Amino acid sequence: MRIDIDRDVCIGAGQCALAAPKVFTQDDDGLSELLPEAEAEGGAGPAAGPMVGEAARACPVQAITVT
Ligand code: SF4
Repeated sequence: MRIDIDRDVCIGAGQCALAAPKVFTQDDDGLSELLPEAEAEGGAGPAAGPMVGEAARACPVQAITVT
């Protein structure tokens, strides 16, 4: 599983961090970013889990791509 966040599209709604708090966080500007441990594993670690798909679906601007 690979997770990409299009930060040009992200509006900082925070739904991803709510849905998958072990994978996503928000930076100082409120934009979504992967937590370091998720980033280190290419988003594919055990922390990812099914909530990643939920986070992608929850994003109001489809900024998250899971492949
Ligand atoms: S849910 Fe979408 S718009 Fe909101 S912070 Fe996450 S990636 Fe950005």
